[in-house]
Amino acid sequence: MEQKNIIGYSKEYEIKDHPSVEGLKIIEGKSNFPISWLNKQGYCEYQLYLEHMKGIKTQATPEMTHGIQIHKELENIFKESSTPSTFEDAVEASKKEASMSRECFVIAPDYGIRGYIDEIWMTPDEIVIIDDKPGRTPYQSTMNQVRAYCLAYKNMTNEERKIKGALRERGTGNLFWIEVFTPEVEKEIKFTIDRMHGLFDGTKPFIPTKNPNKCQSCNFKNDCEHAN
Ligand code: SF4
Repeated sequence: MEQKNIIGYSKEYEIKDHPSVEGLKIIEGKSNFPISWLNKQGYCEYQLYLEHMKGIKTQATPEMTHGIQIHKELENIFKESSTPSTFEDAVEASKKEASMSRECFVIAPDYGIRGYIDEIWMTPDEIVIIDDKPGRTPYQSTMNQVRAYCLAYKNMTNEERKIKGALRERGTGNLFWIEVFTPEVEKEIKFTIDRMHGLFDGTKPFIPTKNPNKCQSCNFKNDCEHAN
């Protein structure tokens, strides 16, 4: 499969910082959050409150640091062996010839989401959007993250080919979860994204987890009044 390094987009947006929520942006007049935040939302919404509303900083865990390092190495190898392309040209060309890209930025101002897809395969028949994760368990949170990437990609391209979301065991070729992005899945992820916007605009409460195992491994446990 041809390797394409996505380096440009036909559309540019004016991006402003949100006045009170760290990391939230205002794009096209609407709040816009990084898709990776869905991973935290599925773990414990209160983490989002502590980090982005209260501004509490935590140290990266050794697992996080290791993950970032592997990610960087793969990205550097990819950049050396790939051909530069704009996003739009890569999508169009893939209707005739398959290609793959890494670190592909997607943004959907209509839904208030943005993020980087770890790897995307574009073939004449289908689009496969892959997120690399440690381990082999598909959690609701990680599935939601991939579903939001699918939604953003679809919103940018009006894609008519089948779109699939997948999770891959980091550092391997093992796709341990894969699903077609159906209208039902799309409806569900839009509902979750709406909830996220409700958290940040104050219309919905940040609900802390009741699972003590999650609190045990949580980086915020020393600063959290709900730790159990
Ligand atoms: S300590 Fe528990 S309740 Fe508090 S943010 Fe962490 S996971 Fe959530």
